[in-house]
Amino acid sequence: MIDNNARKITYHYTEQNYLPLKDLSITTCYICSLPLDSKVSPDHLIPNGLFITGSPKRPVLPVHAACNNQKSKDDRWFLKELSIMCGLQPDAYKTFEDFIDKAQIERENIGLIGKSQELKNYKLAKTLLEKNTWGLDVTHLGENLSLLHLDPGSVNRANDYVKEMCRGLYIRNVPNASPRQVKLMGFQYAKAKVDGTFDEHIRNIQTLSDMSFERRFMQRWDDRVAYLGNSTTDNPSAGFLFIEFYEALGYLAAFK
Ligand SMILES: [Zn+2]
Repeated sequence: MIDNNARKITYHYTEQNYLPLKDLSITTCYICSLPLDSKVSPDHLIPNGLFITGSPKRPVLPVHAACNNQKSKDDRWFLKELSIMCGLQPDAYKTFEDFIDKAQIERENIGLIGKSQELKNYKLAKTLLEKNTWGLDVTHLGENLSLLHLDPGSVNRANDYVKEMCRGLYIRNVPNASPRQVKLMGFQYAKAKVDGTFDEHIRNIQTLSDMSFERRFMQRWDDRVAYLGNSTTDNPSAGFLFIEFYEALGYLAAFK
């Protein structure tokens, strides 16, 4: 059973084969695949909002300032979707609750002169909740758990976002990599445990990870976010990356 009172406040950071940015020569923007110009800015590959204050070594890559600007909007949207998709995890649920609380307070600004700018959370909440429906999905450890179903449009948008994130993280960790195709597969842990597919997912990731241990790279910020991956011996652009959020949701990306 999930204990909502057991909130962790400490965390640990671990890494393997994570190179400092200065050791890499990045000449291309991973977002648009065009050469970098004079207007670059550092893109946080994993949105800052996911980390606990003080989390070290958050991975960044230089990108076009314009590309970064565009992506920031998606970052905000993705964090909210993520808190829904990981809704069974107490930290994620708390984030979602705080967001809904803010939206409800902002709702009182509707129609007030000079307050029209202060409806950001409300508008986003309205969009999210209109597009998604609550339902009794799974029975986990004898309890019925209510999960929010995402509409197909939101699932596609989240998949595209995660694909780009995985590609960025892969390029950040594998020098000379320029993967073209990404195949992505995501799974919610609670659901996969009920379906009986969880162990198989984990075994597959373990097998991929063991294939070339010496080239394996990983970063882990305790139970908040973690990723690992490796590349094949002969082709730096072929490999895999697995990313996990809140120990509740995982995505496996395969690159060619
Ligand atoms: Zn760009």
